[in-house]
Amino acid sequence: MIILKLGGSVITEKDSVSPKVNFDNLNRIATEIKEYLNNSKMDNSDLIIVHGAGSFGHPLAKKYDIGNDFTMDQYAEKKIGFSLIHNHVNKLNTIVCSALIDNNVPVVPISPSSSVTAENKRIYSFNLDLLKRYLNEGFIPVLYGDVVLDNVCKLSVVSGDQIISYLASNLNPDKIILGTDVDGVFNKNPRLYDDAKLIGLVSSLNDLDQLDSTTNVDVTGGMVGKINELLTLTDFGIESKIINANVPKLVLDSLMDKQVKGTIIKK
Ligand code: ADP
Repeated sequence: MIILKLGGSVITEKDSVSPKVNFDNLNRIATEIKEYLNNSKMDNSDLIIVHGAGSFGHPLAKKYDIGNDFTMDQYAEKKIGFSLIHNHVNKLNTIVCSALIDNNVPVVPISPSSSVTAENKRIYSFNLDLLKRYLNEGFIPVLYGDVVLDNVCKLSVVSGDQIISYLASNLNPDKIILGTDVDGVFNKNPRLYDDAKLIGLVSSLNDLDQLDSTTNVDVTGGMVGKINELLTLTDFGIESKIINANVPKLVLDSLMDKQVKGTIIKK
């Protein structure tokens, strides 16, 4: 089984204030996934796709401040924010699924807001039976960062990266690939520092020199949030790899088990 993440920074124009899809990347990656499936000896049931929200989620999540304390007189507005965010990320999911269906990939969306609950911003319940049944039938489930009900905060955001770590710790995949918009993890933010150096292997946040979280608007923690999620998996002996999905063929080559530039997260 492979879990593939398509970063919000890859499939959307992440810094756009209004939701904007990066169709060049999305359509190219959809053809790479199709090519992998054509070449793969494994059947389709071995792939799960998770995507981020990018400009479809982060500006709104920040505006409505979902996941932080609020008073009951603010609840009505928070709920509208929740509905709006779900509506946007769901639209992005439909666009992602359409690009894959256009390439004859049998996808099925699984919406976290209808299947996941959280407790203090961490996934609390997620019944994977249906997802497993879809996998058994040869479908490729497509999940995404979404808003969910929370036992403590009432409403919170669950990132695509947290979904990856939950799925991986429960399904024990052979491979986890995270496509983002930089070559991997650097010793410091490569968007802020020209002399940042790519780190081939990360086993702790201490491997980084500076923890500037991200240059992007991201309530779920940017690169540091991503590394933290992936580090939780290393406790189960599960490793993952961060690659640059803006570079043509890197998603395909990673799926095909070829050596590609990137960062392995492993203890
Ligand atoms: P995605 O949307 O693809 O999941 P994010 O935008 O959350 O990814 O995280 C990727 C961004 O993290 C990069 O564009 C980069 O600006 C930022 N970043 C911050 N610190 C680092 C670092 N040490 N190494 C790599 N990227 C970093």
